[in-house]
Amino acid sequence: MNTLEVRNLKKYFKTPRGMLHAVDNVSFTIQEGKTLGVVGESGCGKSTLGRTVIRLLEKTDGEIFFEGQNVSDAKGKKLKALRGNTQMIFQDPFSSLNPRMTVSQTIAEPMRIYKRGGRKEIVERVRELMETVGLSQRFQDSYPHELDGGRRQRIGVARALALNPKLIVCDEPVSALDVSIQAQIINLMQNLQEQRNLAYIFITHDLSVVRHISDEILVMYLGVEAERCPAKELFKNPAHPYTRALLSAIPRVNIHKKTERVILEGEITSPIDPPDACRFAARCQYALDICRRREPALTEIGENHFAACHRVGEAL
Ligand code: SF4
Repeated sequence: MNTLEVRNLKKYFKTPRGMLHAVDNVSFTIQEGKTLGVVGESGCGKSTLGRTVIRLLEKTDGEIFFEGQNVSDAKGKKLKALRGNTQMIFQDPFSSLNPRMTVSQTIAEPMRIYKRGGRKEIVERVRELMETVGLSQRFQDSYPHELDGGRRQRIGVARALALNPKLIVCDEPVSALDVSIQAQIINLMQNLQEQRNLAYIFITHDLSVVRHISDEILVMYLGVEAERCPAKELFKNPAHPYTRALLSAIPRVNIHKKTERVILEGEITSPIDPPDACRFAARCQYALDICRRREPALTEIGENHFAACHRVGEAL
């Protein structure tokens, strides 16, 4: 079953210089128990996309379906139910936790707000959740500043699980952590996904991080979809020049296998009232005249493999 379906989603922001197209015509589907990795540089709109699909931000246009129900304009009880079923894990566990709340108060807060049980039940549930995410009970009364980054992010995960959600938007959840801790948190999230059949939107600027956790990957460039396909296919047959540049930046373990790093040069196109052109054209070494005159449509170039480039299919 589809947990989430997003159709032609747009999120624009009014600025003194014009309309900023943060998310422009993005569509995708996530089935239960699956992960969509969303990748792109800072400012490409991936965090805005994550916040808009769970209605933390109001969309400008498009449709959002949660478990088959149109929740694009849900209000009142329907919106509250959606918020319970969709949670978020943030990048910086330090700033996303209230410094005045202890670990147990933080994890209990969503259950109190949603009135999920009496005091005793909530205390028991907090204990269970701490165990689930691998946090020792001795930290129950600790404050965030007393814990290291990995433990703080475990609190973020426990809080996100408190209401038994079906979808979690993970916004750069491991970027602020040491590499060894990153692996622990990713393993934890994968185990939780298997146990609870959770769907994830995993947002990151680093393709190597999403490689193992994603079923499908969406590559965003300046608010639009550059490429979307199953994760394995993206690493095997990247079609968009921007995806290839991102892949070339991943450090290799095999020093005997040479790969050429693609250095992106040129100005980044302004996302404010963007022209009818490929938004990547100013930095693309393969750009032709047509790329500066017409925006490429997202086209299916293989089974469930979509790319937006005038030159896909050519041997570039
Ligand atoms: Fe490069 Fe043109 Fe393709 Fe854009 S449409 S990625 S500019 S080749």
